[in-house]
Amino acid sequence: MKRVVGDDASREPVAPGSGWPGDPARPTTPVAHDAANVERLAGSAPSLSHLDARVSVCRACPRLVTWREKVARERRAAFAGERYWGRPAPSWGPHDGAPARILVVGLAPAAHGANRTGRIFTGDRSGDWLYAALHRAGLANQPTSVHAGDGLALHGVRILAAVHCAPPANKPTPEERDACAPWLRRDLQLSLRAARVVIALGGFAWGALWPALRDAGWPEVPARPAAFGHGREVPLGESGRTVLGCYHPSQQNTFTGRLTEDMIDAVLVRSVTLAGG
Ligand code: SF4
Repeated sequence: MKRVVGDDASREPVAPGSGWPGDPARPTTPVAHDAANVERLAGSAPSLSHLDARVSVCRACPRLVTWREKVARERRAAFAGERYWGRPAPSWGPHDGAPARILVVGLAPAAHGANRTGRIFTGDRSGDWLYAALHRAGLANQPTSVHAGDGLALHGVRILAAVHCAPPANKPTPEERDACAPWLRRDLQLSLRAARVVIALGGFAWGALWPALRDAGWPEVPARPAAFGHGREVPLGESGRTVLGCYHPSQQNTFTGRLTEDMIDAVLVRSVTLAGG
């Protein structure tokens, strides 16, 4: 039996605007209850901060809402004394006052990572790897990412996700990917002006990214993009923008040596060069 501490209220998802560090939402933030709502609320989000707020309260996918809230109530034994976020993890960054020139697109939050901390790639091994690498590349102010109030800040980088809710077994269904796509599309639309590089972490993100780029109006998106590969580089014509592939820093990839520090560092260094330093 799982050990759960705290009162009943603390087992529920964090209420919008109730003081969680970095919570972008307020009690009045509009909530999407189905795919049509996602389409409407994403398309009408006037800024990235509005978009992040709306993503963070979304309830459009019944299976994922049930799963993320169940995980938040039951918790892993190692985190039994912690409150879980239990909501979608919105995109995150940058924090230096300038729009992001580099976008990093992941798969989805981890059940006991971002679904616990409320911040994408935070509180799990994948995040340890990603943020340490971003720090080595000069894109983050510290190498660790433990919780939403730990002082981590990103320079010129924004982290996005193909799906914003933690899925069972890390596998969203095609319907859930499609339901979440308008959030990604609007993120890419609002980031287009400054962004020069998009890094897709893994084949799922790579596959979700191309139609989203096209629908977001990015210039010169190829009709038949190359297959995913680590280090794959696809320039978007003469637009000065490039898509890069990188293996996802999942435990499966990093424990087996499929992805090494040198490999992820090389992709990030290349992204910095392409983004103009
Ligand atoms: Fe909403 Fe995306 Fe989560 Fe589905 S996966 S509930 S669309 S945020």
